[in-house]
Amino acid sequence: MEALVIGSGIAGMACALRLAKQGIHVVLASPYPSERSQSVMAAGGINAMVSGNEEGDSVESHIQDTLKGGSGLGGEEAVRGMCEHGGEIIRYLESIGTVFSVDGANKPVRRAFGGQSHKRTYYCGSATGKQIVSALAMECRRFEAFGMITRRLRCSFHSALIRDGAAYGALLYDEASARLEACYADFLVMATGGQNALFGKTTGSSLCDGYAAGRLFMQGAVLKNLEFIQYHPTTLETAQKKMLISEAVRGEGGRLFYVENGERVYFMEEKYGKRGNLMTRDVISREIYATGKDVYLDISFLDGQTIDERLPEVRDICIKYRGIDIKKEPIPVSPSVHFFMGGLAVHLNHETSLRNLFAVGECASIYHGANRLGGNSLLSAIYSGFVAADEIAGRAPARKYPDFTAFMEDERRLLKKSSASKSTFPVFYIRDMLSMTMAEHLGIVRDEKGLEEGLTDIGYYLSIAEKIRYDRSVPAYSNFSLKPILCIAGATLASARERRESRGAHFRSDYPETLERYGYATLVSYQDGKFQIRPDQEHAYES
Ligand SMILES: Cc1cc2nc3c(=O)[nH]c(=O)nc-3n(C[C@H](O)[C@H](O)[C@H](O)COP(=O)(O)OP(=O)(O)OC[C@H]3O[C@@H](n4cnc5c(N)ncnc54)[C@H](O)[C@@H]3O)c2cc1C
Repeated sequence: MEALVIGSGIAGMACALRLAKQGIHVVLASPYPSERSQSVMAAGGINAMVSGNEEGDSVESHIQDTLKGGSGLGGEEAVRGMCEHGGEIIRYLESIGTVFSVDGANKPVRRAFGGQSHKRTYYCGSATGKQIVSALAMECRRFEAFGMITRRLRCSFHSALIRDGAAYGALLYDEASARLEACYADFLVMATGGQNALFGKTTGSSLCDGYAAGRLFMQGAVLKNLEFIQYHPTTLETAQKKMLISEAVRGEGGRLFYVENGERVYFMEEKYGKRGNLMTRDVISREIYATGKDVYLDISFLDGQTIDERLPEVRDICIKYRGIDIKKEPIPVSPSVHFFMGGLAVHLNHETSLRNLFAVGECASIYHGANRLGGNSLLSAIYSGFVAADEIAGRAPARKYPDFTAFMEDERRLLKKSSASKSTFPVFYIRDMLSMTMAEHLGIVRDEKGLEEGLTDIGYYLSIAEKIRYDRSVPAYSNFSLKPILCIAGATLASARERRESRGAHFRSDYPETLERYGYATLVSYQDGKFQIRPDQEHAYES
């Protein structure tokens, strides 16, 4: 039996390892020359209730916090499964070499994150993602040595091999040979992360561009909850991206302010009292947006040793990227796109609407509902990888692969046309325009008019993309990814327009209330070039 896993972030590697352990050969494809991914950026930690470390906490409390954070749209059964397995996942990570931070008595330490009723975030200094990724990568190498995992580096997902509603592997674009190759598999697992690059500069990786989910959407997969996009309130602008300024700064007493008539205005404290700076990410992001001013985060009043001990990564980022010494001066901050609650719709077993096609990690939508709690995504990435692998291990392999020669030849012809084309169609120009459209109309605060305008823009970009499809001055990937990226962007705008209420990370200035009649997840499918939106009654909110 053979599985093809696309994406070697935490979710992809966790899934590949669990499959390999159960005797299933895995091909693990990644566009990088190594296991690099957005997962390495995770700093804050991973949530879990580990028995023996309760200190008043419980699995039930983790479940309730997660469901509440998701405004009732996270699937309850799924959330329950994830939280119940938190302890087992921490133990697993330790067993493969992840070193979590401990106190003087050698007991694991935990930190608090917004929306949690207890301290349950395990961390590895300020490098949780790096620690977990390197432990998983070493383990993958071990299974590679046994012949159970084959890595395909510099290979991007191009399209799925789909016949009669079932997947039989994928076409991979091999950057080295500039060729499309068919990779047949009994099961295809997508672990391609979020849609960051639709928005230009974000806290995440520009390789997480939504292409894979967009292409699958065009091939018949259903997407879910796309309108729920988490903005992180405190990020630092740099040339390439918005660097995350961890919630830990506010946890240590950091104060947000703007300047008016030469005086500091601590707007969060004025409105919400002493805990104002620790309100949830969506609330702070909206308040910063509402000031219309340059906002700063000050921690310089803390003594230097405490900053060195507890906030070393923030100190480094500010010095390295902007020459700001946080011991002496405030940090200029602004909200930025950070995490995608929406993605490929999956059942409890992580199978998508297409048979034998699974989605895990941030590219799947199931646990986080309308908003995600910090620290829950690393947990969901690993847990979802395990769930999909266990489901696959219990299934029978495809007896015979259908013939995809015609499909492959068509796609190869289009690619060839790309390299022979004389057109200088500006793909990157459209991508830049797309980022502007998304930032303008799918920001922290949305309204009907803006969303309509955004959809009109996408329609226009799509019409150009249809006419002149190729730009020789950019890599082939940038050409073939354009239309699916525009489609997922359009589906996101359409989903946000249809939700005429405010809930979690989705805030509509024209519909500011949360309405019971919208207590369901949004499903969107692609039919004849149109986005069909419908409610997911399975995950309807029971109030
Ligand atoms: C700055 C930052 C800090 C964060 N901190 C935390 C934290 O402290 N705690 C927490 O729980 N979460 C945190 N998160 C969120 C968390 O890191 C992610 O949700 C999680 O790592 C996602 O893992 P993943 O494996 O699903 O995807 P990723 O790690 O994003 O991996 C996706 C993989 O898919 C590959 N890929 C994409 N497109 C294609 C394609 N077309 N073909 C082939 N491969 C493709 C990418 O190259 C990558 O290898 C943070 C996120 C950011 C950006």
